[in-house]
Amino acid sequence: MVHASCPQSPKALGPDHKSCAALRVVLINPYEIGRQPFALAEAAAWLRQRGCEVTCIELSQQRLTADALVGARLVALFLGMHTATRIAIEALPRIRRLAPSAHLCAYGLYAPVNAAYLRAQGIETILGGEPEAGLLELADHLQQEKAAPLTPTQRVAFIKPDRSALPPLSSYAHLRMPDGARKTAGFTEATRGCKHLCRHCPVVPVYQGRFRAVPLGIVMEDIRQQVAQGAQHISFGDPDFLNGPMHALRIARALHAEFPAISFDATIKIQHLLQHQATLPELKRAGLLFVTSAVEAVDDRILEFLDKNHTRADFVRVVGILRGLDIALSPTFIPFTPWTTLDGYIELLSMLVELKLIESVAPVQLGIRLLVPEGSYLLKLEGFRSGLGDFDPEILGYRWSHPDPRVDALQREVMTVVEAADRRRLSRREAFAAIWQLAHDATRRAAPTLDIADPGSAIPTMSENWYCCAEPTEQQLQQF
Ligand code: SF4
Repeated sequence: MVHASCPQSPKALGPDHKSCAALRVVLINPYEIGRQPFALAEAAAWLRQRGCEVTCIELSQQRLTADALVGARLVALFLGMHTATRIAIEALPRIRRLAPSAHLCAYGLYAPVNAAYLRAQGIETILGGEPEAGLLELADHLQQEKAAPLTPTQRVAFIKPDRSALPPLSSYAHLRMPDGARKTAGFTEATRGCKHLCRHCPVVPVYQGRFRAVPLGIVMEDIRQQVAQGAQHISFGDPDFLNGPMHALRIARALHAEFPAISFDATIKIQHLLQHQATLPELKRAGLLFVTSAVEAVDDRILEFLDKNHTRADFVRVVGILRGLDIALSPTFIPFTPWTTLDGYIELLSMLVELKLIESVAPVQLGIRLLVPEGSYLLKLEGFRSGLGDFDPEILGYRWSHPDPRVDALQREVMTVVEAADRRRLSRREAFAAIWQLAHDATRRAAPTLDIADPGSAIPTMSENWYCCAEPTEQQLQQF
């Protein structure tokens, strides 16, 4: 019911604004690497405070049913990563069928860069990485049955995320300890955006070198509510936890002071691990269990193209530093780029053997192919655009082929092995051995005997094996 006489301005975005009728809003998370999303919980908190009736749907766990979408006036899909966007596009026809009168919105990093395609698929409103003000403004417009264009230039303050409409933490990815123990994992964010400009990164076109801290008090409130739900470990989903090193330290200190038994993990770039090496022992004492780091390549030329601000030697140093501190390292890679060679790929595998990192690298990391979405800073790299095909909405990026077709063929074969390894629950060591063989077969050279008697210690890992920039599997595309 909409009261035309509602005295509240639709632009009054303050926390005290209360709408005069309950607008039914459905927030959908297509994929968040098995983590309970902060981006839905924060949006839900604001929309509820505004008086909306909010339902959340996790596409990896819940079916899109008529019941879930009945009466929805606003359906907002969170597109925080490539895989999520691909899954969302598959789900859109069903969403439109089940909620024909809902206004469709997409938000998150991948929404603005895919705006044109999303609009062609029926998405009416596109919001970026700071969506809350826009969602509130949109809700107000819908309440008042206005179709005014949205100009969400404001940001709202962070408030305690509302996780009550999301499935319980126990149904999300858990932490697997090397001894087989299992820990319930919570997920929060201490910052949004990133101060770096790595050319391939999806954060860059949206945040353009800026980041925003979530206040310590809000982060702790969010952690507290997840510990109350059973979290024994917290994953920080910041693009880079050490963009604000003092902020990160304060959070780690507060977390440890209040919950000394809770461990945590964070994503930290190689450059920051070196620059802020002095903070690492304290982070370790505060519970830092493992660090995910986007190494991407071990070829300095490729690292330069990606503008990563680290070298192969820096990566090796970091492996030693973290080992010395007993902090596990979970490196991520983009092994297949237009600059990759077969020998370079074998060099990457050999380095993982040498550094005893086989158990530290998820098999999917060995098959990732460089994505070039619209707005990618790679397009600013001299001569790069001319080597690309057209933008292909089906893959949400520019198509490219490697000048050596054997490299593209190897990437496809590696991904086939990775998917099979995932299905058959092969160990990392088994998957690595198969990929080692494939890589050498591609060069028509005999594969040297793989000496993996000591593949390195198993590290704590999250139970979700897939990744944010990998092509979705058939199962992921059909599960809803
Ligand atoms: S890759 Fe990491 S460090 Fe680089 S811009 Fe993206 S989030 Fe920042």
